Amino acid sequence: TLDAAWAERWMRRSAADMHAAREELTELDRRIGDGDHGVNMDRGFAAVASRLDDEAVPPRETVAQVLRLVATTLMSTVGGASGPLYGTAFLHAARVTNRADLDGAGVVALVEAAAEGITSRGRAVPGDKTMVDAWAPAVEAAERAADGGDAVEVLRAAAAAAADGAAATVPMIATKGRASYLGPRSAGTEDPGARSTAMLLAAAVAAAG
Ligand code: ADP
Ligand code: MG
Ligand code: MG
Repeated sequence: TLDAAWAERWMRRSAADMHAAREELTELDRRIGDGDHGVNMDRGFAAVASRLDDEAVPPRETVAQVLRLVATTLMSTVGGASGPLYGTAFLHAARVTNRADLDGAGVVALVEAAAEGITSRGRAVPGDKTMVDAWAPAVEAAERAADGGDAVEVLRAAAAAAADGAAATVPMIATKGRASYLGPRSAGTEDPGARSTAMLLAAAVAAAG
């Protein structure tokens, strides 16, 4: 069941995964950005995990409350482009999550709202070589899987599409974010934010057990 306990497991696993991938994400960003994406993600999700450990934090009895806690924590601890982008994604996802546990349609709504949060904030479109290239196919795959699929199947479809979408950014030339300063030289490296998006959705699947 994709309930508040799942959302907490998802975030703790994300913190562990971002910590483990810190060097990998930073190396991608070193090639086409300013070399801090792994540091940014590790710092942000470590803060999320420590807020979850803290008894005094705001309530997290529902998925929406957990997502809101994540949003505010990422916005206040992650510098750079990715903090406000992921913060807005989790904030918008929290707004559409109104059930104790998510069904397939609830997972679709969560992924759609997160992706919409990213694009409303960053104005990137697919092909710009950003995290949108992972989110957009995740939305499409979730919508397709919702036809008959249960919540975990929808999540799994979204995560698989995000991973493919991230891999597909390798040959792209960036037209948004810092990587766009490199022009054609941005081709040949996976977009770090697309990679971290794929990792986040993979952690959501893993937390579902
Ligand atoms: P910064 O570029 O400020 O150092 P990060 O390194 O943490 O921030 O994040 C970089 C990632 O942010 C990029 O790999 C890309 O996926 C994402 N990004 C940057 N600008 C945008 C945008 N306008 N829309 C969507 N994603 C973006
Ligand atoms: Mg960076
Ligand atoms: Mg930076």
